[in-house]
Amino acid sequence: MPWHVQAWRRAARSDVPSILLHGPAGIGERDFALALAAHWLCEGSPNAAARPCLACASCKLIEAGNHPDLRVIEPASMAAESEDADGDEETVEDKGKGKAASEAILIGQLRPLNDLARITSHRGGARVVVIHPADAMNIAASNAVLKLLEEPPAGMRFVLIAHRVQRVSATVLSRCMRVPLPVPAPEQAVPWLQEQGIEDAAAALALAGGAPQAALANADPVRAALAMAWLRCVSAASITALSAARETKDAGAPQVLLWLVQWTHDLARVKAGAAPRYHPAQAATLQRLSASLTLRAITRLHRTLALRQRWIRHPLNAQLTLEALWLDYLQGTGVH
Ligand SMILES: [Zn+2]
Repeated sequence: MPWHVQAWRRAARSDVPSILLHGPAGIGERDFALALAAHWLCEGSPNAAARPCLACASCKLIEAGNHPDLRVIEPASMAAESEDADGDEETVEDKGKGKAASEAILIGQLRPLNDLARITSHRGGARVVVIHPADAMNIAASNAVLKLLEEPPAGMRFVLIAHRVQRVSATVLSRCMRVPLPVPAPEQAVPWLQEQGIEDAAAALALAGGAPQAALANADPVRAALAMAWLRCVSAASITALSAARETKDAGAPQVLLWLVQWTHDLARVKAGAAPRYHPAQAATLQRLSASLTLRAITRLHRTLALRQRWIRHPLNAQLTLEALWLDYLQGTGVH
């Protein structure tokens, strides 16, 4: 991505075994990590730009998603082929979480790394592990990774991606070189989105909080329909938390909460006389809703919702969680 040039230089020229990329989600962080892995594993001739050649056998295997010396560890909810984590060795915090656990990286997913550490590389080069996102590791998983980071087996390298650095354990952080990934300026991101065929690129970028890959994902028709359902609930003059939770259950609690946090941020901005940041197209609705509320009430609601982001990835019951979120919002805006 054009906005990653400086971060790329830092990461690609370093020879430390472990790098932690951090920044908000949806700015191309996963592609960056895979490009870095490709760079480390590339068997083509080294070039001045320090980039993977994209032509050698290794680069082609990465593109096809089956390089034998690369492991990408992601929560089951993200991975195309989810591995079943067996619950036996999980810590107490994971017990009884049922389906919600799939949002986290569990220790069962890290066991294959021990095999990767023991054997020599298949193709004679490095072995690379990408962990995405590192802040989704539970305590047991984090400790297992720490052991590898503390004494990295020869030729083994790690790329960790974190959206909230403060949620990564300090000991893991201390073992990595940190490379911040910036959110691109709209002048860079809007043309990029236009190149990907997004029509109203500026509005799409604003809705995604400035994260261009998130904006691209939102353009998917299924996701657009989920966002419309949410928008109907958030701007309804009369609706119950129960029916709002039902209407938005396909989007899932973490997504609904993110939207509500951004929406209440915009409510506060509009109340204070500023333009909305995330929902420029909904200025009139925001205006109408904020008219009957005090800035203090909006700020309180926004804080309540923002605090809920700390535990939203581990909800006990998706429907109850959604209802609680909607109750917060509807009571806070006086609809319910
Ligand atoms: Zn190559």
